[in-house]
Amino acid sequence: MTSGLDDLYQDVVMDHGGNPRNMNKVDGAQRSAHGFNPFCGDIVDLEIRIDGDSIADVGFTGKGCAISRASASLMTEAVMEHSTDEAKAMFEAFRYMITGQGDGSIGTEETGDGSDLLGDLEALGGVADYPTRIKCAMLGWRTLMAALNKEDSAETVTTE
Ligand code: ZN
Repeated sequence: MTSGLDDLYQDVVMDHGGNPRNMNKVDGAQRSAHGFNPFCGDIVDLEIRIDGDSIADVGFTGKGCAISRASASLMTEAVMEHSTDEAKAMFEAFRYMITGQGDGSIGTEETGDGSDLLGDLEALGGVADYPTRIKCAMLGWRTLMAALNKEDSAETVTTE
């Protein structure tokens, strides 16, 4: 029998949740942000090294549920060595997939429906059916945006 939970915990999510990628500090990081999801207790501390306008390295530490770890892990793989603008576009595409809300940049002629940006991140699409887990899935991304949008300092973001 297939249930929604099976969809939620797809193999790729289980894989990244159990064995997160880029779960480490970043040498020479210029930017960081602390993310906290009080509804679940998830914590993501993100560090980024920027080279020009691209993300040369990104890593995270912290603790949280499988969804928050998997999402942060998939996020670091998605944005690694991409430009900060591409990372922001991925954030918008991901947010649109999970929450149905975006800034209007998704669904345009230029970006399509955003799905081409998401790759493995689509494995988290099932989270959209579980409102209590959306904040878990968004935490890593919100923390990334906080770090990217604030230069040379640490930023704190919560999902409230
Ligand atoms: Zn969580």
